[in-house]
Amino acid sequence: MDYKITILKGDGIGPEIVNEGIKIFDKIGKIYNHNFIYKRGYLGGESIDKYGVPLSEETIKLCKESDSILLGSIGGPKWDDIDPNLRPEKGLLQIRKALNLYCNLRPAMLFESLKDSSPLKESIIKGGLDIMVVRELTGGLYFGPRNRDEEKAYDTLLYSNFEVERIAKKAYEIAKLRKNRIINVDKRNVLDSSKLWRDVVIKVGEDYPEVKVDHMYVDNAAMQLVVNPKQFDVILTGNLFGDILSDEASMLTGSIGMLPSASLGDSKLGIYEPVHGSAPDIAGKEIANPIATILSVAMMLKYSFNLVKESEAIEASVKKVLDQGYRTPDIYSEGTKKISTSQMGDLIAWNIH
Ligand code: NAD
Repeated sequence: MDYKITILKGDGIGPEIVNEGIKIFDKIGKIYNHNFIYKRGYLGGESIDKYGVPLSEETIKLCKESDSILLGSIGGPKWDDIDPNLRPEKGLLQIRKALNLYCNLRPAMLFESLKDSSPLKESIIKGGLDIMVVRELTGGLYFGPRNRDEEKAYDTLLYSNFEVERIAKKAYEIAKLRKNRIINVDKRNVLDSSKLWRDVVIKVGEDYPEVKVDHMYVDNAAMQLVVNPKQFDVILTGNLFGDILSDEASMLTGSIGMLPSASLGDSKLGIYEPVHGSAPDIAGKEIANPIATILSVAMMLKYSFNLVKESEAIEASVKKVLDQGYRTPDIYSEGTKKISTSQMGDLIAWNIH
């Protein structure tokens, strides 16, 4: 089958890490008989240099016509002093809006061989961690009515049924691809918006009898993540709580170069990208860790194309290469083998079966 992928390399280490992601697509295509067709778009600083804006109509069109999008990272000192409306980061917000991507997926995976990078005790994380935070991205407190005058200010946490329904459906579908378990996180004991949120989550769940859903208040969830993170599989939550909990969960893994993410809408089209930025301090040195990008490719295969076997083959290969002791400098420790960005990509591609 053919899959059209828009490639947005972006700035800083973006091109280096995306090149490694493409190696992985190529290897999967070869083994599993898929045809990945790449189209090059431009976002952020590289788009400013080419078109004068961080996101051009050409790139929006390209993205809309593709099956999914792989993004490196954007931004850097070169564009720090330009008009705030034209800054690279605006391009990312604009493309998410243009594609109506309301669902943010932030997995927090801790590979057993990297357990020393986690701030948590070994007894808590033994065997590794695999949590998926499903965060509503376009509603809630960050987008409700707001105002500020001399004396006071307010923001509004507003959710409508349809906004909760569509993100809840996504979470149930994602849970089906994992362990069929959701912990819904809200603040139902205090907030009316959380009462609506939980009611809708339960109602949508009637269509997914195979998925077990439990509920937790956000303050408890923040504690449970550090006390007993293994109890979580899929965490479903709103924009504000998701912002905080996804950062907390990702830090349990200890390394920013390992964390993928996805932003999804109603169709299979999504933007898959590492959580980290463009790391201008190490750009061009061939030392960036490409694993966050490679795991973003694995996510795309699973969540956009339903290629679960292929996705798991990538994750298994990453695990194997780490178990063999290979490390980029950011995750290097004594007794392991230090390798470059492209060597890491080659090894992971080579170990995919
Ligand atoms: P950053 O994530 O780029 O870097 C933080 C630190 O982590 C740096 O020391 C960097 O070298 C290191 N690091 C990041 N990714 C790494 C990797 N793959 N391998 C090894 N080390 C890695 O954050 P920052 O320095 O605050 O931001 C740099 C630029 O990136 C800014 O212009 C910022 O606006 C932009 N940014 C972009 C995105 C995005 O594209 N989604 C996200 C965050 C920041």
